[in-house]
Amino acid sequence: MRRYKNLRPLVVLPILFSFLSACPGPRKNFPIIDAHVHIQSLREAPPLLGAMDRLGIEKTILLASPAATFDPRSGGFRDYEANNRAVLEIARRYPDRFLPFVTLDPQDPLKLEKFKQDLANGAQGLKLYSGHRIFHERSLDDPGMEEIYAFCESYKIPVIFHVNAGFFEEEFHAVLRKFPRMKVVCPHFCLSTIATDRFERLMENHPNLYTDLSFGPRKNLETALERFSRNPEKYRRLVLKYQDRILFGTDAVVTSQPGRGEEWLMELGRIYRSLLEEKDYDDIRYARGRRKGLYLPAQILRKIYYSNIYQFIAK
Ligand SMILES: [Zn+2]
Repeated sequence: MRRYKNLRPLVVLPILFSFLSACPGPRKNFPIIDAHVHIQSLREAPPLLGAMDRLGIEKTILLASPAATFDPRSGGFRDYEANNRAVLEIARRYPDRFLPFVTLDPQDPLKLEKFKQDLANGAQGLKLYSGHRIFHERSLDDPGMEEIYAFCESYKIPVIFHVNAGFFEEEFHAVLRKFPRMKVVCPHFCLSTIATDRFERLMENHPNLYTDLSFGPRKNLETALERFSRNPEKYRRLVLKYQDRILFGTDAVVTSQPGRGEEWLMELGRIYRSLLEEKDYDDIRYARGRRKGLYLPAQILRKIYYSNIYQFIAK
């Protein structure tokens, strides 16, 4: 199906980049791709682009979301179709900067048809929320979702699947066992920074499973930074072990609410970059004093910031 192969031009970029970076001389500034951002509407694109430019972020994956992502008072999995349209529209306006991933409601009998329509309209991947505790209505391996998993597997459509592995590990294993060629990111270290054996079990058993190093809302981010800082070696070992399947992400939720503009995005991006790049860093906003980072070598940063994502979305 040719129309789903519009990512092909992107595949040559990493080859070109590896050639350039193999040239002599240290290269400190890698292009960065942020694999995890939510955005409420087209209005918020300019501040996001401003922050991306200042942070060296070349492209961002926009994950369509239900209204609850932007306003916790809005319960249930609602209004996601409007946000699907919004991310597709933003990507149409700024095709060099954004990759739109749409979402769907697992309960919707027309979900596959609607998803195909979104792909025809420019969607480059799928975001699923059914492994989130508040959106978990049926088991992840419910037969009703198999048409979607099978379709993504057949057409190599990348899936970013929020799964709280602390609650739904077995169901998630069942999905990944049944659709082993489906490329899936379980973001936020598969929500397993506290139970790294669980994280390793998932990554070991499923070679097409990826993760990202974003940690969600501020409280979760603080907890994760604290945990990493207490024992950077433990997390560094895991990042090195799975260095080909880890993506950079900020999980920024960009809205027009006060305090969510370009400066906030800058701060968030800097925190995540510091976590990966620095031995220790000033954690002004999120905590007290200095924190220890992962201090990753340049060749690993290049994978996390740039080349792994191409592997993930490659057709
Ligand atoms: Zn998110």
